Parts: sequence; structure tokens; C-alpha cells
Amino acid sequence: MNTNCTFYICPTCFHANEAEANCHGHSMIKYDACLYQGVQRKPMTDKNGRIKSRAPRWFLQATQNRQVVGAIA
Ligand SMILES: [Zn+2]
Repeated sequence: MNTNCTFYICPTCFHANEAEANCHGHSMIKYDACLYQGVQRKPMTDKNGRIKSRAPRWFLQATQNRQVVGAIA
């Protein structure tokens, strides 16, 4: 069984890779499924429970300080 739960994802085109690489002129986001569990995998919601983004929280946290080319708000 493969126990490697880490991959890299481009925040622009969502291309995923098992090795660290650049895509769209920037480094890909490292995702560790063993590290991000539970609430980190869920989407952000407002105080009324409405979903603010379809992206999981770990992705939003990883991209909030980046300038994502072509991102949809
Ligand atoms: Zn890309």
C-alpha cells in the first residue's frame, strides 16, 4: 500500500504532481493529506453556515498570500 499522502497542486490550473515543480510561473502548493484532516478539508462557511468558496480551507490558506493568475473569486 502506498503511504505517501503528499502531492503538489498548481493554484491556477489545478495540475497535480507527485514531485515539487513550477507551473504557470510559480511554485506549486504542497498538500499533505496526512497533515490536513477534518476541518481543513472542508470549505469555508459564513456564520450562517453558507459556503463561501468551494475550495477547501487548506487551499485558501495556501493561496491567500499569493497572487493567483486567473483565479475565480
Ligand atoms: Zn498551472
